[in-house]
Amino acid sequence: MKSPEFSYLKAQTMADVFSALKTHGDAAQLLAGGQSLLAMLNLRMANPSILIDISGLDSLKGIQQNGNVIRIGALTTHHEIDSSHIVKEHIPLLAQAVPYVAHLAIRNKGTIGGSLALGDPAAEYPAVALALNATLIIQSAKGERRVKASEFFISLYRTAVQADEILIGVEFPIAKPNQRFVFSELARRKGDYAMAGMALALSLEGQTIQDVALAFMAMDDKPILAPRAMKALTGQSINSQTISQAQAALDEDLQPAGDLSANAATKKHLSRVLLSRALIQAGATHV
Ligand SMILES: Cc1cc2nc3c(=O)[nH]c(=O)nc-3n(C[C@H](O)[C@H](O)[C@H](O)COP(=O)(O)OP(=O)(O)OC[C@H]3O[C@@H](n4cnc5c(N)ncnc54)[C@H](O)[C@@H]3O)c2cc1C
Repeated sequence: MKSPEFSYLKAQTMADVFSALKTHGDAAQLLAGGQSLLAMLNLRMANPSILIDISGLDSLKGIQQNGNVIRIGALTTHHEIDSSHIVKEHIPLLAQAVPYVAHLAIRNKGTIGGSLALGDPAAEYPAVALALNATLIIQSAKGERRVKASEFFISLYRTAVQADEILIGVEFPIAKPNQRFVFSELARRKGDYAMAGMALALSLEGQTIQDVALAFMAMDDKPILAPRAMKALTGQSINSQTISQAQAALDEDLQPAGDLSANAATKKHLSRVLLSRALIQAGATHV
């Protein structure tokens, strides 16, 4: 199927974006890498009257360290993130996740801002942002506001970005030496959206888990934390008993609906497997 008709504006400045958003409101849609939006247009899942192409806005590109955070501009592509030494060194969880995002051709064009703003519950970056307590930076003609990942993802394809706003970037805290990170997912084929996926960040004091964040994807209508499993792990060392207790708690945390990729029981089973593998990997020197 071909896309519906739409007007097109290539924004040269942020002022162009805000002026067009003011004029067209909900009828406008931002175009970044186009890797999701063009398919959505062709499938008639989106029907904007105008596309505002933001891909030329250089101020939204790049990866920088600002004190104890790394800021990534919304238009930074998946491939740029994959190639970044800053990301490898300071945001290892994101570095682990990016090769799972689609295929190289899509990673060359698709952007982190597009992925986060789309809010697909089976996408990798939203789960990573949640596990790392990232801050999303949103701008409108009135100014800038900052939203924690836990408040940003609202429901299926719905985020905190309003019709007159644009996501301009995301800040991730720099990893600390006592932190361990594991990203893992299971998909039918490499590059497919996951049947189940998990982002784990934990800090160890000796062999004891001090803090842990456990975010799951493809389990709900948005990425979710697993609070009972996190509680079961906090203050414990990583061993087979702790892993079993965390898996039991996880069963209560996750209430997935089945989807085209897997039924609910399979998703829960895969999540338990992912959690066990990730904990063994995170505590490899201690098990
Ligand atoms: C075959 C295929 C497989 C894929 N597999 C995966 C996968 O496994 N995992 C995964 O995570 N993704 C996957 N994707 C999606 C891919 O990662 C996209 O790059 C990403 O979802 C959207 O980024 P984009 O820059 O292309 O955004 P676009 O397609 O241009 O836009 C997506 C949506 O976000 C909005 N938007 C874009 N930028 C902004 C912004 N700065 N502020 C506010 N709103 C904005 C747009 O208006 C639109 O609604 C896949 C895509 C394809 C085609």
